[in-house]
Amino acid sequence: MIVNVSRIIKIPDSTMELSFEEKINFIESSSGKIKLLKPINFTGTLVNDGKVLYLNGSLSTVLELYCDRCTKPVETSLSINIEEQFSSESIDEEEIHTINSGSEIDLTPILIDAILLNIPMKTVCDTQCKGLCPQCGQNLNEGMCDCSEHDVDPRFAVLKTLFKDSE
Ligand SMILES: [Zn+2]
Ligand SMILES: [Zn+2]
Repeated sequence: MIVNVSRIIKIPDSTMELSFEEKINFIESSSGKIKLLKPINFTGTLVNDGKVLYLNGSLSTVLELYCDRCTKPVETSLSINIEEQFSSESIDEEEIHTINSGSEIDLTPILIDAILLNIPMKTVCDTQCKGLCPQCGQNLNEGMCDCSEHDVDPRFAVLKTLFKDSE
């Protein structure tokens, strides 16, 4: 989303409300493409403090991630606070974005970066997900396979010892 800030850029203390939806189908992450199931929704306020424009807002969207255990798609809602600074002078500070000569700022790369930074480290479809059999790939949520190497459920392990004692 390109935002034209010419209305507030020359007037200290002026503000500008932002509210938009931007439809993006995929974003590229270091581990591959990630599908966005909903448009990016953004609301925020730009404030000219006389030196820089401060942006304060929040974005929300829904990503399609995959269960780390069974690879099933998992709808993951994100809502992220955004705080950024913009200046039309090229200030030698990395965290201040430049406003181009047409008084425009492009929020899309900023929103995409924020999403990439906030992708959860772990995704599971269910805390009880049993995952896939490491040998045959069977989804163990759908049923057991014939491989023998599955970890014994600790509750059954206790029963086994009980039976042993009574023998
Ligand atoms: Zn799973
Ligand atoms: Zn198996």
